[in-house]
Amino acid sequence: MSARYVKRTAQSAPCCSFCGREATKENPLISGIYDDNVFICGSCARSCTSIVSENATFDEEVKLRTPREIKEYLDEYVIGQDSAKRAIAVAVYTHYLRLMSHLSSVGKPELIKSIKDAAPKKQEEIELDKSNMLVIGSTGTGKTLLAKTLARMMNVPFAITDATTLTQAGYVGEDVENVILQLLQNANFNVARAEWGIVYIDEIDKIRKTGDNVSITRDVSGEGVQQALLKIMEGTMCNVPPKGGRKHPLEEYIKVNTTNILFICGGAFNGLDKIVARRLGKGKVGFEGGKNLTEGSDGILSKVDQEDLIAYGMIPEFIGRLPVVTPLNDLKKEDLIRILTEPKNAIIRQYQAIFAMSGKTLSFEREALEWIAERAIEKKTGARGLRAIIEKFMTGLLYSLPEADQKKEFVVGVEDLKKGTAI
Ligand code: ADP
Repeated sequence: MSARYVKRTAQSAPCCSFCGREATKENPLISGIYDDNVFICGSCARSCTSIVSENATFDEEVKLRTPREIKEYLDEYVIGQDSAKRAIAVAVYTHYLRLMSHLSSVGKPELIKSIKDAAPKKQEEIELDKSNMLVIGSTGTGKTLLAKTLARMMNVPFAITDATTLTQAGYVGEDVENVILQLLQNANFNVARAEWGIVYIDEIDKIRKTGDNVSITRDVSGEGVQQALLKIMEGTMCNVPPKGGRKHPLEEYIKVNTTNILFICGGAFNGLDKIVARRLGKGKVGFEGGKNLTEGSDGILSKVDQEDLIAYGMIPEFIGRLPVVTPLNDLKKEDLIRILTEPKNAIIRQYQAIFAMSGKTLSFEREALEWIAERAIEKKTGARGLRAIIEKFMTGLLYSLPEADQKKEFVVGVEDLKKGTAI
């Protein structure tokens, strides 16, 4: 943009063509590109930006992917978790159908022309419920990764928040509207785009009802936060303070309709397996018939139902807004080895790319990969721990790499890892 700032001079006193105010140091004027007798002041420019973004439309083509295609896309980045990926693929497919139905109803059928044949006819009288999801799994099993990967696949804005930082309005902490603000920021304040976004809320289990509400400034019971989240999850016109923070009575809010925003909630739900086992009359959680009942999708958590989540402390209305509930498995040694090497952006592949840029090759012996995976299992942080373990070693190696002129091939073995030094 080649607009220029216009300073007030003795000869000329240009005014903003919108509000009529003269230029000041704090509120300079910008002249038109084609007609330099037309001006806009900074304050009017800001107002225009927010009016334009509020009225912007979603003008990108929505591409329908079948559940199988969605699962295949997830497979490229997320290792294991097959039944969760299937459940999520179906939920996201349904979400697409809702979006399409909306696009036709707002007169944008051209945006769905590429999927016309694949899509079933719009059912005027049946309103599809939103497929918000609850993903249950220990730390580092891929909950956030799944949500992020979906947002990338759908090419929609993504926001992530931690339920423990949220509070009911009136208490100390973040208002739930700030999550929507994050989505808006990631959509460059294009309200229409934000309205198709995905919000991931982590640590949702930490806002369970606890009964011992002892603070008057912080809603520690969690119930208020669930109530506040419930509203935006079921679809409401949300008033978002453009600068975040607390709402101010005199501030102008950006209105965002949350009806089509997909919410994915995640949490570890420690102890939920015992609640499910009790309901099923299994008494003790552990091994039964050689099967580990504490394991996510293969074990007892695959039997989780709304009743168990309510017994855990989630309010029924909140759970009612999360129709898709899917557990993730704890990652085993073999999964962790695959995570190190297989995904498109696997850690080891990234290091190999760095080595290739210096004209060198990098590889890991099978035992070395196993050693890294075992250390990660000891840490009990799932795949999250892998990066830290390998990074510590690789930093040493990369530090001296530019000086290793002669050596072209680097093969990492267990002993190298144990020594933690360059090869
Ligand atoms: P959480 O379940 O705690 O949300 P994340 O999704 O944030 O865990 O995972 C942390 C990191 O571990 C991710 O950045 C990713 O690199 C890796 N990771 C975790 N689970 C998987 C998985 N199933 N497949 C591939 N990578 C994974």
